[in-house]
Amino acid sequence: MSDNALETEFSDLLFYIKDKLIIGLTGGIGSGKTAASDHFMKLGVDIVDADVIAREIVKPNSKTLSKVAEQFGADILLENGELNRAKLRERIFTNDDDKQALNSIMQPAIRYALLEQLNKARSEYVILSAPLLFENGLEKYCQRVLVVDVPVETQLQRASSRDTVSSNHIQSIIDSQIDRTTRLSKADDVIDNSADLTHLYKQVTQLHNKYLTLAVG
Ligand code: ATP
Repeated sequence: MSDNALETEFSDLLFYIKDKLIIGLTGGIGSGKTAASDHFMKLGVDIVDADVIAREIVKPNSKTLSKVAEQFGADILLENGELNRAKLRERIFTNDDDKQALNSIMQPAIRYALLEQLNKARSEYVILSAPLLFENGLEKYCQRVLVVDVPVETQLQRASSRDTVSSNHIQSIIDSQIDRTTRLSKADDVIDNSADLTHLYKQVTQLHNKYLTLAVG
């Protein structure tokens, strides 16, 4: 489905979010988006997380999971009915048509659930957290974009020790994401997360106060 057709289909949902202050939160793998959004949540802000939604919409017996199984064959499911993520990753890694087919199932479903959750949010402003905010064109729903930034070496070190995977693997994910300079050039606000967590929380609190003021305005 084209982007325009999607927007038409979602026009009701779009109408209701137009008066909300939505802050897009993004950053490369391991930059600290979750650490930052957890702190915004502690301050009472509703978080809509595109990664969480992407997992939720393919729960066993969901409409989206059955579309995926229809496209990729029933053996893309595990015996317990859950999606075999490793197998699906392998398929889309080695085949561009499969990747496109998956995207055309997943992206509209993610977009719909995301807009629904933005609608339900009741805090003064809402954070829309998405690692691929720019890559998937989600910044158009946001009034401002906040980028969590760290040097690539820090991404490699933090993400590989969190996930116990090789830094080569993390590097290949970094290479598939928008580059640091381009991401920063699109930011309205930037959190420098190269220091410790106390430093991160302090910046989150300062931005929270700024966003509250903007929301009232
Ligand atoms: P992903 O894109 O993979 O979801 P993310 O951007 O959400 O990653 P986090 O999971 O928040 O990143 O952080 C990556 C790792 O680095 C985590 O283990 C987190 O606890 C740690 N971390 C985040 N910020 C800091 C910091 N300022 N100092 C030390 N460790 C940090």
